Amino acid sequence: MFKEKAVEALRNSGLKITKPRLWIVEYLDGNKNHPTAIDIFQEVRREDKDFSFATVYNTLDILVKEGIIKQIKTEEKSCRYDPNTGLHGHFYCKNCGKLFDVDLKQTNFLDETISFGKVEDYEIKFYGICNSCIN
Ligand SMILES: [Zn+2]
Ligand SMILES: [Zn+2]
Repeated sequence: MFKEKAVEALRNSGLKITKPRLWIVEYLDGNKNHPTAIDIFQEVRREDKDFSFATVYNTLDILVKEGIIKQIKTEEKSCRYDPNTGLHGHFYCKNCGKLFDVDLKQTNFLDETISFGKVEDYEIKFYGICNSCIN
């Protein structure tokens, strides 16, 4: 489902569906690690050494614009990408830089925000030290 939607979005934006672009889509499909563009680049380069960073960049750019993936800003220079566009927040560990998904379905503070109008985007982030860094 994710793959089909992503390929369709790329095609509608006039991009050719090349093998590297498919690899990017497949790498993102179900990925919970919130990779950076560089993570994705390094991964796809294992398959194809001639692969360019520009391809990663323009592919991600279109997927974000088309709402297929979400771009998450962190305190680091490079932003992260998330194929999960459903309602959830993030917990960012200041020590290891990992980004964890936070289930927001239990909370109801969003209901109030939504009464102001139609929410098109949101960013809910928690900062701290993750359990494995504390121990
Ligand atoms: Zn940590
Ligand atoms: Zn996430």
